[in-house]
Amino acid sequence: MKITRFAPSPTGRLHLGHAYSARIAHAAARETQGAQGAQGAQGRFLLRFEDIDHTRVRPEFYEGILEDLRWLGLNWNGEPWKQLDRLPAYRSALEELKKLGVIYPCYCTRREIQSELAQLSSAPHQPASHQDGPPYPGTCRPRDASPPQQAQPSSTQSTPAWRLDCEKAAQLTGPLTFQTNSGEQIPVQANLLGDVILARKDIGTSYHLAVVVDDAAQGISHITRGQDLLPSTHIHRLLQSLLSLPEPIYLHHQLICDDSGERLAKRHDSLAIATLRARGHRPEELWEMLNALPKK
Ligand code: GLU
Repeated sequence: MKITRFAPSPTGRLHLGHAYSARIAHAAARETQGAQGAQGAQGRFLLRFEDIDHTRVRPEFYEGILEDLRWLGLNWNGEPWKQLDRLPAYRSALEELKKLGVIYPCYCTRREIQSELAQLSSAPHQPASHQDGPPYPGTCRPRDASPPQQAQPSSTQSTPAWRLDCEKAAQLTGPLTFQTNSGEQIPVQANLLGDVILARKDIGTSYHLAVVVDDAAQGISHITRGQDLLPSTHIHRLLQSLLSLPEPIYLHHQLICDDSGERLAKRHDSLAIATLRARGHRPEELWEMLNALPKK
């Protein structure tokens, strides 16, 4: 039985790229339903609102996204989850990681990180993810065996962010792999994104921590997501191992682009589901449009 999910952010309405992603997750769950018969073990397609970017979230987008999915015929199981309801779960996961000694407080401002990075012209070139930006230069990383709690704030801010010490974490877990839907075992590169933030100053969690905790709590067996999140999957597998959470199977799908080959984003209003629907298109026509759009 496959349990899949779609995890949109309620910071805008869905566009064709989201529809593509949601359809893949929906189809994966429904496949098993068909195979087992109506009364057998059924796949489940779950929803989760990634709303920790609370300043960009708008209340009307929660219902708007549900409306888009309903209209597309992508019906989900159970009540959608909201990450803002789950902050205590993220806090306790963070406590566990603290006890393991694999996270440290970081008092750097964005500006400080940028100027540090600018000075490190010889810094090893690592990929930047759209979630995290360039890898953190390690300013607040504990240098020796001193416990992380003794790190000193470099500014007047009293609430730190918490970062993963990716090298320490990798030492603790040993070599790891993650499994793809085609049966491949991909070796985890723990330092692929550097010491990512696991708890932001403002909300006490981050995309990486929240998604790992929630995928386990919702019992997600198959994670279907865009290829842009492939680097993040390395970090997520590491966190699953540290937190003794189950290991899901991953499918990284292509990204839908516009005619000029640029990845679809919220600003592509003309390709928003709600806009296309208002123009009189039917869901079948949207699926046809999707098939015709370039993918990368
Ligand atoms: N919210 C993420 C996105 O739309 C997906 C979350 C995930 O797969 O981890 O890109």
